[in-house]
This record gives sequence, structure tokens and C-alpha cells, in this order.
Amino acid sequence: TFISFEGPDGAGKTSVLGVIKTRLQAQLGDDLVVTREPGGKGSKIAEAIRDVVLDPAYPDMDVRTEALLYAAARRQHILDTIQPALAAHKVVLSDRYLDSSVAYQGGGRQLGVQTILELNQFATQGLVPDATIYLDIDPEIGLQRIQTTRTDEINRLDQEALAFHQRVTQAYRQLAQAEPQRIKVIDANQPFDQVVAAAWQAVEQVLTE
Ligand code: C5P
Ligand code: MG
Repeated sequence: TFISFEGPDGAGKTSVLGVIKTRLQAQLGDDLVVTREPGGKGSKIAEAIRDVVLDPAYPDMDVRTEALLYAAARRQHILDTIQPALAAHKVVLSDRYLDSSVAYQGGGRQLGVQTILELNQFATQGLVPDATIYLDIDPEIGLQRIQTTRTDEINRLDQEALAFHQRVTQAYRQLAQAEPQRIKVIDANQPFDQVVAAAWQAVEQVLTE
């Protein structure tokens, strides 16, 4: 079973996933693989691409270059990490996957949803998660959370306008509307414990289906 976790910056994705990982590991042990994008657990090539694509030394990277690098990293992540785990009947949880590219490069960077989907069809050959846990948060609240909790990111966020985050969120919401079966929307404006409870319930339901 392949489950991705998605959401804009400040939704609490990393913290929520941390709790879920601990609980699932207690149940599944080695049958659980937790990985993340860009990059991927155990994928040297995908991690090397991550280092390039997230390096603040390249603020002028072209948006198409960026989209290609995310897709290239995803390709290698699938081959090195996701497919072997699924072939061994493990549960794979990925912190971000394809929907992040649609939201960030398609929406945020305005390359267009269809362009990004086509590019990623080449990269993924159609590998879509069985379910996606999407932490939905109002862009203003998400940005506020990050600015008050992660001072190291203030500079980066100053550069990324609120408008960018609004486009990212809008693209996520459109995806969620288009694919309600796959994408489970969690209201991440709620207090942390409630977000965790809702996400956990969604994961358990997917795993018992
Ligand atoms: O998951 P995390 O918040 O650590 O992701 C790091 C950053 O990478 C995000 O804040 C986002 O700006 C960027 N990203 C992106 N496009 C993707 C995936 C991530 O711009 N496809
Ligand atoms: Mg994060």
C-alpha cells in the first residue's frame, strides 16, 4: 500500500507524519517504509538531486529546470525505494509525491497542472498512491505558523509571496476536488491533536480496506 502525505508549508505535515510513523512502526515494524520527496530514503541519486533543487545557492533556477529535477528525482525514488517496497508487500508512506509537483510547479510556479501531469506521467509511468492524506490549511495561517515557529525560514518565506502560497493551496484544493476517492482532506487549521487524530483515522481506514 502506497500512501502519500501532502500539504502546503506550515500545514504541520512533518509533525503529523512523525506521530503517525511512530504508531505505524509499532504495528508494522519492518513492513513500514517511510520516505520523502524531493529525494527518497535510500536513493542516492534522488537525494543528490534534492541537494541541487533545494540549494538556496541557486535562487535563479529556471522553473522548467526545477520541474524536471523534481520529476527526475521522483523517477529514481520510485525505482530505488517505492517499487521494491511495494513488491515486498510493505506499506510505503511518502512525505510528498506527485501532487506536490502539481501544486508547487504547476500552481505555485504557474507551469500549469496539465503540463506537470504530462511530465510526471513520463517520470512515474502512472504510479499513483493508493491514498493521499492532504493537510489543508489556509495560506495565511500556514505562513504565520512557519514565521512564528521556524525563524530560520523567514528569509526564504519573505521571498515567496503569499500569492505563491495561495496558488499552491488552490492547486491542491482542485486536485482534492477532482480525486475525492484518493485524496483524503484533513482540516489542518484545527489544533495539532485533532489533525493527528483525523490523519490517523484516514490512514487506518486505508490500511484496513
Ligand atoms: O516537505 P517540505 O516542506 O520539507 O518541502 C520542502 C520545500 O520544497 C517545500 O517547502 C516547497 O517549497 C519545496 N517543494 C517544491 N516542489 C515540490 C516539492 C517541494 O517547491 N514538488
Ligand atoms: Mg515541512
